[in-house]
Amino acid sequence: MTHFDTTAVHAGREDLLAQGLHVPPIDLSTTYPLDSLMTGGESYENLATGHVPDAGDSLVYQRLWNPNVDRFERSVAQLERTEAAVGFASGMAALSAVLLAAVAAGRPHVVAVRPLYGGTDHVLATGLLGTRVDWATPDRVHELIGPDTGLVVMETPANPSVDLVDIASVVAQAGDVPVLVDNTFATPVLQQPVHQGAALVLHSATKFFGGHGDVMGGVVATSQEWAVRLRQVRAVTGAVLHPLAAYELHRGLQTLPLRVRAQQETAATLAVRLAEHAQVARVMYPGLKECDPLGLVGTQMHGPGSMLAFELRGGHAAAAQVAQRCALITHAVSLGGVDTLIQHPAGLTHRPVAADARPDDALLRISCGLEGVEDLWEDLAQALMAL
Ligand code: PLP
Repeated sequence: MTHFDTTAVHAGREDLLAQGLHVPPIDLSTTYPLDSLMTGGESYENLATGHVPDAGDSLVYQRLWNPNVDRFERSVAQLERTEAAVGFASGMAALSAVLLAAVAAGRPHVVAVRPLYGGTDHVLATGLLGTRVDWATPDRVHELIGPDTGLVVMETPANPSVDLVDIASVVAQAGDVPVLVDNTFATPVLQQPVHQGAALVLHSATKFFGGHGDVMGGVVATSQEWAVRLRQVRAVTGAVLHPLAAYELHRGLQTLPLRVRAQQETAATLAVRLAEHAQVARVMYPGLKECDPLGLVGTQMHGPGSMLAFELRGGHAAAAQVAQRCALITHAVSLGGVDTLIQHPAGLTHRPVAADARPDDALLRISCGLEGVEDLWEDLAQALMAL
């Protein structure tokens, strides 16, 4: 097995040299020529039921298969150390496909460990896709598993408070119920949840995979068996990843290890400085000892990551002012890109979450980018000084 960084650069490109190519060609075909009605029909049925094409088969139709999406998926699977991966139009499309697959299998009950991304919390709380949810703390998952539980959903580090959850403990409590880990914040650079027994690893590829704030996508890394089910759901719902987006995401993976490590270094510096600031009540960052009581950094995770959160002594009003006063740092949702973003989860990404589970009103979340750390600190310091 090659080094992780080598895999990031070369995965999904294995056939290029033999074709005399350096980068993957982009295939925008929405339809593909058929040899005959009989072989075309067989290919159609094969792909529509979630199976992969055999060599020489027609790819039939873009909603069923696309070579750029396939390259991206194979890369993600190699990086997450799973058998397969399935790409989607967004992270929410990816999650929806997993939920619909659980419902279709007759197991609509979901046990979910809060906190979760606001959109994930929302789709589960509303039951819009036919699921029924019970919310669990990380140590009470086993109490809620029932005969029709189809899925356990968790995030670590969790959005937005960067809480770390012990994946192996949740997997042990779940028994034979598959556990989905949202690995968006950590990326496979810092954490590969299959090593702790996760059955499904979800990414909003919109974030670190793209890395430049200009492409949307989602992906689930999983077993061959789950991949067949998820491709079938994707084919019928049409929540496909566009080939151009897949191309960009695949390219983004090549620099993912470098970006994640550099962004992490910046986060570590900012977390320490924020923790010392008089206007800051509390900093949440897995690299701070008090934020990692289970010692998961260094065991479950290779590093604390580049996402941090902090609470202002001045509450909501102070948080709103700081977000607004940042100048170099952009006041915007999303994360994982080369530029630093700040946002107020309770008022934005986590607005749909029930009041008793919503992040604190004094909390701001920062996604650290690749700017010079002193410039970022200067910007934060001036925004904090004005309070
Ligand atoms: N999971 C996490 C942790 C997220 O932060 C997000 C979006 O912010 C999603 C899932 C949803 O992804 P997308 O916005 O690509 O649909």
